[in-house]
Amino acid sequence: MQFEQLGLSEDILKAIADCGYDEPTPIQAQAIPNILMARDLVGLAQTGTGKTASFTLPMIEILQGGRAKARMPRSLILTPTRELAAQVAENFDTYGKYTGLSKALLTGGVSMDEQIKLLDRGVDVLIATPGRLLDLFERGRILLNDIKILVIDEADRMLDMGFIPDIEKIIGLLPFTRQTLLFSATMPKEIRKLSQNYLSNPKEVSVSAPATTAKNVEQFVVHVHPKDKRHTLEKIIRSEDVTAAFIFCNRKRDIDDLVRWLKGKGYKAQGLHGDMAQKNRTETLEAFKNDEITLLVCSDVAGRGIDVDDLSHVFNFDVPMNADDYVHRIGRTGRAGKTGRAWMLATRNEDKYLDAIQKLTKQKITVKDVDEAKSKKDDGKSSQKDKSKDKPQDKSKDKASDKKSDNPSDKSQSKPKSERKSAPKKDNNKKKNKGDGDGDVKGFGDEMPNFFGS
Ligand code: AMP
Repeated sequence: MQFEQLGLSEDILKAIADCGYDEPTPIQAQAIPNILMARDLVGLAQTGTGKTASFTLPMIEILQGGRAKARMPRSLILTPTRELAAQVAENFDTYGKYTGLSKALLTGGVSMDEQIKLLDRGVDVLIATPGRLLDLFERGRILLNDIKILVIDEADRMLDMGFIPDIEKIIGLLPFTRQTLLFSATMPKEIRKLSQNYLSNPKEVSVSAPATTAKNVEQFVVHVHPKDKRHTLEKIIRSEDVTAAFIFCNRKRDIDDLVRWLKGKGYKAQGLHGDMAQKNRTETLEAFKNDEITLLVCSDVAGRGIDVDDLSHVFNFDVPMNADDYVHRIGRTGRAGKTGRAWMLATRNEDKYLDAIQKLTKQKITVKDVDEAKSKKDDGKSSQKDKSKDKPQDKSKDKASDKKSDNPSDKSQSKPKSERKSAPKKDNNKKKNKGDGDGDVKGFGDEMPNFFGS
């Protein structure tokens, strides 16, 4: 299947070619023609499958044919988090660059004035989190009766975050005649009900069975005593070729503690969680994307929707209490055809959550002990030094290395990952939008796109 066969216009095909995509991913190949035929659609797909483009591309095509009136946007995309909203907005800029469509991003934590100015001018696409959208609606700043396409992205996440009543309220404000697209990585019964109530005879497309984990992510669990978690984590990091990683914690207060501890050990670590001001969140994400940070310690909410497609690792500092979150967390690595490794630390108290994950994903996670991981390094199989730290940790010089890591003039610390020697066994270059994976790659679902080769 080629992009040219999907019914997209020249302007869009040109933008796709600029991204270097060779062919549509399975979700794109299935979703785009159906959306162009004005059908409602339920898309079962994880992040990393190319699902964002599977709705932004046909939306741009459909919206090209008209213009928005002041305060009356023509399409609405609802996302659970600000980060995901920003990522969708980026997709519109990338794929719509030759079409001149206008968009507004309505999320909390940023000033309303700019958003109101944009709305007053008229926008084709509105990308919003539910709370801010309702807020602006209730202030009379926006009219929703010209919405022709509604997208509900990451619906299962909306459910986890308690947004379903808001979504239903918003749908009640939209015209009855519209096209509705719903995307979700999993299909809990509440989401099934939502789709039955608000979508009309939807076409269902799916790229991997619900709640299955990406096949190109190797998964390990280490059983630990709660007091040993940090040290065990560090041992694993030191034994692996970490180029960029998320470390997920269940509790926000643990994020700050762990970041402090990792920094003290000389790692380029930073935290990301919902209590941070939007400005800090944006800066942290930028620093991560620019390789100034290697280890991003985050909560589930913050970790979702960050468009970084080549994390080498995901670490679960805690076993997620909600099994679906595990699928989402480890879906942050092994994206866009790359391989990834996911490690999880589990205390005895967390065994029940581990069981739930294994039941949901219908697979056993390989149990490792850290000394095994360490010996792997010691026996020279991993010839790379740990790249998350530019200097191997000398315990007697903790203080000095701490200072070093915070010193922006330290060239070795600020050297971008792309300029460092890459790991011999994995290709985790921070190269975006290229399906140039290496061998064993199946990140776009069961079907393996040809452009990745093998
Ligand atoms: P998503 O599942 O929407 O989060 O997308 C994951 C990544 O895949 C993004 O970085 C996209 O730029 C990339 N991507 C989307 N479509 C394609 C494609 N057809 N070929 C290669 N990469 C793609």
